[in-house]
Amino acid sequence: MLDVCLLGTGGMMPLPYRWLTALMTRFNGSSLLIDCGEGTQIAIKEKGWSFKPIDVICFTHYHGDHISGLPGLLLTMGNAERKEPLTLIGPKGLQRVVSALRIIAPELPFEIRYEEITEAEKTFEMNGYRLKAFRVNHNVVCYGYTLEIDRAGKFDVERANLHHIPQKYWRFLQKGETVEEEGKVYTPDMVLGPARKGIKVTYTTDTRPTNSILEHAKGSDLFICEGMYGEKEKAPKAVEYKHMTFYEAAHLAKEADVKEMWLTHYSPSLAYPENYIDDVKAIFPAAVAAKDGRTVTLAFED
Ligand SMILES: [Zn+2]
Ligand SMILES: [Zn+2]
Repeated sequence: MLDVCLLGTGGMMPLPYRWLTALMTRFNGSSLLIDCGEGTQIAIKEKGWSFKPIDVICFTHYHGDHISGLPGLLLTMGNAERKEPLTLIGPKGLQRVVSALRIIAPELPFEIRYEEITEAEKTFEMNGYRLKAFRVNHNVVCYGYTLEIDRAGKFDVERANLHHIPQKYWRFLQKGETVEEEGKVYTPDMVLGPARKGIKVTYTTDTRPTNSILEHAKGSDLFICEGMYGEKEKAPKAVEYKHMTFYEAAHLAKEADVKEMWLTHYSPSLAYPENYIDDVKAIFPAAVAAKDGRTVTLAFED
């Protein structure tokens, strides 16, 4: 099961009733955070989730509303006596940007590992999930992220018996591991059916609509997408500042055939995003004008 929380829904600056856009997920005792603007650690506190299991922090890009909360969060994680290494993932320049921010948080009781993305796409396998970063189109280098959890095929007891595989090895094969015993090799494909549908979540903000989003969001259970503007007359502004309107996000959701879309990264001038949701739903019915702290638990089907 994957817990997903959209910690905040604001763009540009935090407001008294709206934290900056950031996503937190929990899977198998490991947490992931994408983006960390000013106040993100307060949003995590409000949600009641723990800082301790955050093993990975990803950045879409280095505008202040997506990274300025990092030094404070690192200090808080240090105060909680974290010892395990923390992995940071982000576009080229990651180590330079984070080192500059860390002038005010120089001593931490844990190691920081950097994963700088220089290519158009990069895949990371870790903590039981797959994270794919893909380049989008903002006024600085920016990436979207897709998180996928695979699900192996059904275990076939009959085939396991047919191959005379000792029962003590079944659980390893079920986990996709190969087992060797006295010259005999047992592989998962001997006992597992075809892979079943897993879980897929895509998060993308601060970008114009792109083919890379369409391609990576394809079939997502949840697609979290920026919608900077709800007002239709602000479409030229979205083009100029390289953001999206609600309707552009809805068209992406429809074309990518996702199950559900949550809008986020609202302009500070947009006080009531839900006022525009009917027109969004006319394009893509399973759309939500998300509010801070919106949470879902995604499980494997059936
Ligand atoms: Zn932003
Ligand atoms: Zn930006």
